[in-house]
Amino acid sequence: MTQNAPNLPAPDTRLHTSVAIIGAGPAGLLLAHLLARRGIDAVVIERQSREHISRRIRAGVLEQTSVEVLREVGLGDRLDRQGLQHRGIHLQFNGARHRVSFDDAVGRSVWIYGQHEVVADLLASHDKLGTRIVYNVQNVAVHNVDSNAPFVRFERRRSPDLRVGPVERVELRAQIVVGADGFHGAARQAIPGIETFGHEYPYAWLGVLANVAPSTDELIYSLHERGFAMHSMRSPEVSRLYLQVDPGDSVDAWPDERIWEELDTRLALPGWTLGRGEITDKAITPMRAFAVSTMHHGRLVLAGDAAHIVPPAGAKGLNLAIADVWRLDGALARWFDTGDRAHLAQYSTDALERVWQVQYFSNWMTRMLHRDFGTESGVPDEYRSGFEYRMQLGQLQHLVDTPAAIAQLAGFYTGLPLQDPAPAQ
Ligand SMILES: Cc1cc2nc3c(=O)[nH]c(=O)nc-3n(C[C@H](O)[C@H](O)[C@H](O)COP(=O)(O)OP(=O)(O)OC[C@H]3O[C@@H](n4cnc5c(N)ncnc54)[C@H](O)[C@@H]3O)c2cc1C
Repeated sequence: MTQNAPNLPAPDTRLHTSVAIIGAGPAGLLLAHLLARRGIDAVVIERQSREHISRRIRAGVLEQTSVEVLREVGLGDRLDRQGLQHRGIHLQFNGARHRVSFDDAVGRSVWIYGQHEVVADLLASHDKLGTRIVYNVQNVAVHNVDSNAPFVRFERRRSPDLRVGPVERVELRAQIVVGADGFHGAARQAIPGIETFGHEYPYAWLGVLANVAPSTDELIYSLHERGFAMHSMRSPEVSRLYLQVDPGDSVDAWPDERIWEELDTRLALPGWTLGRGEITDKAITPMRAFAVSTMHHGRLVLAGDAAHIVPPAGAKGLNLAIADVWRLDGALARWFDTGDRAHLAQYSTDALERVWQVQYFSNWMTRMLHRDFGTESGVPDEYRSGFEYRMQLGQLQHLVDTPAAIAQLAGFYTGLPLQDPAPAQ
């Protein structure tokens, strides 16, 4: 994405709005929803089709802070009917399962409600609101973010078959451009001098969806000698299960039988059995952490995975996106309503303060629960990894025995408080 490009060819179509939002993930769709409630016009542009974004299976844990936001802005009805409230988790290690009660520790909970359900609720709301969402856009570029007249250029095909036919060049003029285009998006590149910081973990998650009732009431996080395993769920009929695998692994190396056997081993507990069912989805996700040095430059602001991603063990990515957008909505409202720029100027600093606390928590959970087999050089390093593993067991034992440590986990897991709630009009 270029920042300033004075010699652009004339567009075929010009659109105008107050806020141009790039990306119709949870961050972009929620921001458009919040702005619409305030009467601030936004246009959302999305690279994928509506069907694609509706089908995407990703996060499933909503912290209480996120649930409070969604309820407050009119998105809580289905969540309250279909979401599963969990008041704790199970931590398993050394062949024993320990319940960690969030309720007892901090009086708070989390909810199991798929990210695709949050997206479905948002799309239903936008259908009612008549929000302009342009799907299947290509070659998106942000321009003039240092001026008072930023704009976004993109292309879309007019024909129903999106691979052929004439291309329409569109210019979307706005007062503010928001990059909510995820980790692989390009909006952040329009911020001159932006720095990025990150970490690649030496393991990945093989995640499966299975048509079988969960064999647990609450999530099980298990550290086993063979690596991490997790039993989560999406509904009373659908289980979500994860296994730590090598980042170089492919799903072809994991036929269903091998997955179930490995889950049986890593989640094994005397007297308990894992129910099996048809596996309907299987994917390997690398585990990485990443954050930008700033989320705001001129008339361009970043939100959600465009600015940061966290390893999924802390279940925080979607929740961080919601927290960003909540803060950004308040800042933009003040800017549009009263011309007060102070909150927008403060947005990046405040959002990143939360991001780095959550990075810390997600990294802590990840390292505590995964085995680093030390195979980077191709040679298993039993001396070091055996030491690490035994130390992790000590850490977990200390955690479950120590109310203050449980309270810290519970506070993070159920969501740090959101300051500056920016009351809607
Ligand atoms: C397997 C997996 C499991 C996860 N589990 C959890 C969990 O349990 N809890 C949790 O909180 N988080 C979890 N996450 C993270 C969570 O899914 C993300 O943090 C969340 O999707 C962030 O939302 P977003 O809107 O910022 O980004 P995205 O959801 O990535 O949305 C960005 C959108 O921008 C679009 N886009 C990209 N580039 C362009 C472009 N150039 N032009 C136009 N549009 C563009 C994309 O198509 C996409 O629709 C998980 C993620 C994965 C992959």
